[in-house]
Amino acid sequence: MLVIMRDHASRDQVQHVVDMLSEAGAEAHLSEGEVKTIIGVIGDREIIYSLELEGLPGVEQVIRVLKPFKLVGRDFQPEDTVVKLGASSIGGGAFAVIAGPCSIESEEQMLATARAVKAAGATMLRGGAFKPRTSPYAFQGMGVEGLKLLRAAGDAVGLPVVTEVLDVRDAAVVAEHADILQVGARNMQNFMMLDELGTMRKPILLKRGLAATIEELLSAAEYVLKGGNRDVILCERGIRTFETYTRNTLDLAAVSALKSLTHLPVISDPSHATGRRDLIAPMAKASVAAGADGLMIEVHPDPERARCDGPQSLTPADFGTLMEQLVPRLAVEGKHLGIAS
Ligand code: PEP
Ligand code: MN
Repeated sequence: MLVIMRDHASRDQVQHVVDMLSEAGAEAHLSEGEVKTIIGVIGDREIIYSLELEGLPGVEQVIRVLKPFKLVGRDFQPEDTVVKLGASSIGGGAFAVIAGPCSIESEEQMLATARAVKAAGATMLRGGAFKPRTSPYAFQGMGVEGLKLLRAAGDAVGLPVVTEVLDVRDAAVVAEHADILQVGARNMQNFMMLDELGTMRKPILLKRGLAATIEELLSAAEYVLKGGNRDVILCERGIRTFETYTRNTLDLAAVSALKSLTHLPVISDPSHATGRRDLIAPMAKASVAAGADGLMIEVHPDPERARCDGPQSLTPADFGTLMEQLVPRLAVEGKHLGIAS
């Protein structure tokens, strides 16, 4: 950390900062110019940041050169984290394709989707039972009944299942039925929930918030790892920008940046990012090229009648075509589908 003092800050003001730092057990290295003094600080990051030196007399600016995350960083663990679930895995070259409807609607819908996506090569099944809907009048999901249908469909085809925990009060019941617990974009900074999921022994799929920076996403993941749960998968699902043609703006640079910053697997969700069926395939391929470790894609047996997100859902046939196009592209990137055949 660097503490930049105001022009002509007094000796006492500089000394006061130095004293505070040494009381906190940090080293202060002064570089004194004619007008300005800059203090370089070395020591425990959490303690130094908690001093809040910005407010002291004579301090102009505090520059934090250290990253606000530790456990999720490549410095802490250089090799890729691989999340394993039965025959499926993600990370370290294993590419996950998580496919299924936006929301669980019926037994037939889930079974038909599960069979179709499994046949096409998906490695995990998704479906929402607790839905975060903008309007309180929109379909809110089937709840626990939906969780059971998802579990049954996953078991019927032998795929692990992923579903969202919308509220920390549902974490236990969702964990009872699901293999991976999803934290939705709207909950990325629900710190109480992240703390709770950190104590659980199920992998967490953490989606980037609608207006969250890369650093905020990594800091959210840090909460889960700090709690002891090391199996976190990050998901770029589009961010809010001025563009309205697409539902959100898919930030593929974030996928590549995250891959170098963190050892955690990073997936891309072109469905929620674009909101448009015609853009799913090109953005899925671009995600592979950007270095993603997986994709989340909404698939519905009858998108026109979907209760949620029909316009961005692929038909099983379109999903099958996309999978055929993806497999050779994975090989180019040195990856393979994360499922034992
Ligand atoms: C979802 O994946 O079902 C979902 C609601 O996504 P997001 O939280 O990214 O909007
Ligand atoms: Mn959806």
